[in-house]
Amino acid sequence: MQLVIEALSKTYPNGVRALNGVSLTIKTGMFGLLGPNGAGKSSLMRTIATLQLPDSGTIRFGEIDALHEPDALRRVLGYLPQEFGFYPNLSAEVTLDHFASMKGIVDRGQRKELVASLLNQTNLYDSRKKHVGTFSGGMKQRLGIAVALAGSPKLLIVDEPTAGLDPTERHRFLNLLAEIGQDIVVILSTHIVEDVRELCNAMAIINKGEVVVAGDPRAIVDRLNGKLWRKYVSKAELPAVKASYHVISTTLLAGAPVVHVYAEQSPGDGFTPIEADLEDVYFHQLGLAGLTEAV
Ligand code: ADP
Repeated sequence: MQLVIEALSKTYPNGVRALNGVSLTIKTGMFGLLGPNGAGKSSLMRTIATLQLPDSGTIRFGEIDALHEPDALRRVLGYLPQEFGFYPNLSAEVTLDHFASMKGIVDRGQRKELVASLLNQTNLYDSRKKHVGTFSGGMKQRLGIAVALAGSPKLLIVDEPTAGLDPTERHRFLNLLAEIGQDIVVILSTHIVEDVRELCNAMAIINKGEVVVAGDPRAIVDRLNGKLWRKYVSKAELPAVKASYHVISTTLLAGAPVVHVYAEQSPGDGFTPIEADLEDVYFHQLGLAGLTEAV
């Protein structure tokens, strides 16, 4: 099954054009939708999840026309929004049992089996009797995924799930998504480049409601190779370097600025060639769109 989005546009009543002709084809596996805050990621996720309608465009998932058959899409959809609420005084087990019965699993034994398997899959089995209100951010996110999986989705949408998670929880969470992504379409929206680099086999970068690049992350990174140069500079030199070269990022290493410059040929002048990574692509693409300069 694949998700095919064509020419999707959405302008909110306040005049903000959140999506501007977005077209993407998303196959089974883990797809990373990367973009800065305000890029339109949530607007796209909510539209795919049939929570809001676009002004124009189409969304098809396999045979399902999502905009005209929202109920059919919802039957195969799991959606973990940026913010969701659980009853803090219920245990994880009772919470999942409740959602499983809402999904129409009436047989108690069958429900018990499903809940146990979801708790195991999300590594929450040992905490199943604890009140959800006592859960850490990572545990809540994993419970959110367990809830989303209760309906055996074929399409799982996860909106900015790693914000606020510590590194261990983040890894555990992303690995869980990657496992799920072996069988179904998983869309992970994030502003964190690392999330995409580590686990996604396909990706897109969006900015100001437009797709600026899409494809296999390795191929996208490869396109920059041979065109990326690095130099350690002093803070005093920085303005002149920025004025003379196409600087795509400036970071600090041990307090001193390191600039990454895009150039078809070696700029000389103490620049050394470097291998591109996804962060360079991200900054480069946002810069090319004329929208941001990364510092
Ligand atoms: P992201 O998820 O990438 O941060 P969003 O889709 O939330 O981006 O927002 C894209 C743009 O649309 C932003 O400028 C945001 O302020 C605006 N926006 C989002 N939701 C609404 C809404 N319901 N009404 C008006 N403007 C909105």
